[in-house]
Amino acid sequence: MNEQMQAAKHVMHKLEEAGYEAVLVGGAVRDMLLQRPFHDVDVATAALPEEVKVLFPKTVDVGIEHGTVLVLVDGVGIEVTTYRTELAYSDHRRPDGVQFVRNLRDDLQRRDFTMNALAMRANGELVDYYGGESDLQAGVIRAVGNASERFFEDALRMLRAVRFVGQLGFTIEKKTEAAIVEHAHLLQHIAIERVQMELNKLFVSPFVARGIAAMRQTQLSDYVAGTFNEAQWQHVHIEDVQVGWAYFAYVSQFDAAEVARAYRLANKEKQFIAQVLTLVAKETWETIDYFHASIDVLRAAQAIRTWQSLAPITEDVQAVKASLPIQTKDELAVNGQHVMAWHDEKRGPWLKDALSAILQAVVTGDVQNDVQRIKDWFMREWINERARI
Ligand code: ATP
Ligand code: MG
Repeated sequence: MNEQMQAAKHVMHKLEEAGYEAVLVGGAVRDMLLQRPFHDVDVATAALPEEVKVLFPKTVDVGIEHGTVLVLVDGVGIEVTTYRTELAYSDHRRPDGVQFVRNLRDDLQRRDFTMNALAMRANGELVDYYGGESDLQAGVIRAVGNASERFFEDALRMLRAVRFVGQLGFTIEKKTEAAIVEHAHLLQHIAIERVQMELNKLFVSPFVARGIAAMRQTQLSDYVAGTFNEAQWQHVHIEDVQVGWAYFAYVSQFDAAEVARAYRLANKEKQFIAQVLTLVAKETWETIDYFHASIDVLRAAQAIRTWQSLAPITEDVQAVKASLPIQTKDELAVNGQHVMAWHDEKRGPWLKDALSAILQAVVTGDVQNDVQRIKDWFMREWINERARI
């Protein structure tokens, strides 16, 4: 049992001793039953936020208006949320407010899918009002209640369904799927950052091709930028989110700037994607390419060439990179000062060109990384070449 679970049990016991019902809810219950690793452990309770706070010495108000208090147990944070129902939804995303209730069944009813509407008591007893356990066993994603209403309320749930297809390899139950098709257009109301977050999870999921297929079959793909064609995602396994975005950009025929703009990706990701796409487009990689690109960029570009059945790069990129005479520009034995001293010309664009020619020569092994050798090479190759022109 991990740290989080231990802390959650402590929290539940404390609440129960004080006379309040408390249960584990959400992804942790689902993932435990599936024997998958889980990350965040959420506790739900009949106790009101103020009642939770008096029971524990250390708490943080992380979302008290929604009923969530973070309880710290020996440095481990557990989110404890008061049972609640939601008021009307007017923006297809967030309820206009929440109402605290004392009844677990009502809390579970507001949850998106039956597999996410399971609760577990501290003693391990499962609370299953909506058939979540049998849906889990059958590998079915089914909306709680009327699917059409649930997606109309909160359109993000549709994308969550597709993301779970990718993560779990499940199928979406027929009525639930039909309701997504019906409301796919409401995806336009969802902030692009939220869409990005779901795609982040989808791209690195074990059944990504199935998730991409679900995007297309539910027509959700019609309301977001890019191409969703599962044929391109067969046998694709991605661990790093930014590799996912680079591949998505490639199959969508987007350049880095386009995909970054469409999904508000961070600058760092945009740069990574740009470097990867440049390498993917190159049939053969020069030694200097191995120098400039990071291992991550090289590996990503190599993988993408393989997934796309382009001529594969068969080199062990890490070994090639490690074998280069220098790994970074800082290791170059000379700098601008040296070059200026050798060549009596005003500082100008030539200096940058000269340094990059020197770098290239050192990286490829044409000249040893030594001041005197570089100087000899430079005077011979650069100055004389120039003089001849
Ligand atoms: P993950 O593995 O991504 O954490 P999760 O199911 O735990 O999956 P969370 O976003 O952590 O997802 O949400 C916790 C729980 O809250 C869900 O299991 C579900 O019961 C409920 N929930 C989350 N988002 C929604 C939503 N948009 N509509 C209804 N219920 C939701
Ligand atoms: Mg979760």
